[in-house]
Amino acid sequence: MKKIEKGKLLTDVSLKQFTYWKIGGNAERFYWPVNLADLANFLKSLPENEPLTFIGLGSNLLVMDAGVPGTVIVTQGALKEMTQIDSNKLRVEAGVACAQVARFAARYNMVEGEFFCGIPGTMGGALYMNAGAFGGETWQRVIEVETIDHLGNIHKRPAAEFTPHYRHIEGLKQNEWFVAAILEFELGDGQQSLEKIKAMLDKRSQTQPTGEPSCGSTFRNPPGNFAAKLIEQSGLKGTKIGGLQVSQKHANFLVNTGDASSQDALDLMALVQKTVHDKFGIDLIPEVKIIGRGSASSA
Ligand SMILES: Cc1cc2nc3c(=O)[nH]c(=O)nc-3n(C[C@H](O)[C@H](O)[C@H](O)COP(=O)(O)OP(=O)(O)OC[C@H]3O[C@@H](n4cnc5c(N)ncnc54)[C@H](O)[C@@H]3O)c2cc1C
Repeated sequence: MKKIEKGKLLTDVSLKQFTYWKIGGNAERFYWPVNLADLANFLKSLPENEPLTFIGLGSNLLVMDAGVPGTVIVTQGALKEMTQIDSNKLRVEAGVACAQVARFAARYNMVEGEFFCGIPGTMGGALYMNAGAFGGETWQRVIEVETIDHLGNIHKRPAAEFTPHYRHIEGLKQNEWFVAAILEFELGDGQQSLEKIKAMLDKRSQTQPTGEPSCGSTFRNPPGNFAAKLIEQSGLKGTKIGGLQVSQKHANFLVNTGDASSQDALDLMALVQKTVHDKFGIDLIPEVKIIGRGSASSA
């Protein structure tokens, strides 16, 4: 992997290395900030109409092989401050890994944040997706967020300005991105919380192909049903297109067996959707976010 320096505007950086799926082309321009102040200064220096894409740990991303226009900003390892601001409150920057949040909270006897250990993304990605696991959801813990706009200005916004839904939210303004969240927990027994985290992670590795490149659950669960069950009952486990395969362990995970292209991913997703629709009359909605040239969200 080419070494990528923080704090420098780069061109043509492969995004494969910044996604769990290990699929995709280059960012036209790429910026990995040193910290939040550096990000704000960088944004102030950009032309106002520059298209911006924020990515965290890339655990819910399909990047198109034709690449991403504009500037891609990576928050992981950059917006990495996490501080206890009260006995039961943390300020967590957007690039902090959710698993770190779960452990940090437990260490300070803050409980009911254990579910964060099951989300292999950043706080920013979790806010954007309203990520959840083991019955808990990100926005249940949020009391305030900090956003940054395309001019580099920071805004504090109470949680009440946002409406969380299953794996998506309403309320994030256009040209604003999350840079931090204030999270509130219950006070309790941190040791028990750490044990709960361990049990959750053990359960995860038994039921999901956690060591293989994927985007986690590819499709949202339809109301009252499970996407994995529908895909499995459609006989699709093990089905392969190009380098991408429906996992034998968890049918809603599509795993990259080595050299999958973004077209393989689109084709296998379309095949799964059509097969499930034909068999059950249910439309599966992708949970994975697709970015780059040729995706619906880009030119
Ligand atoms: C093995 C595996 C297991 C998973 N299990 C779960 C699970 O149990 N529950 C669950 O909910 N998800 C799960 N996921 C999916 C994924 O981890 C979550 O969606 C996570 O919240 C994505 O965070 P990220 O930092 O990786 O975001 P990315 O994948 O980098 O980005 C996801 C979306 O968020 C946007 N985004 C990222 N950062 C910001 C920001 N700072 N401001 C605004 N927008 C931003 C991106 O533009 C993109 O649209 C799993 C994924 C994998 C690979």
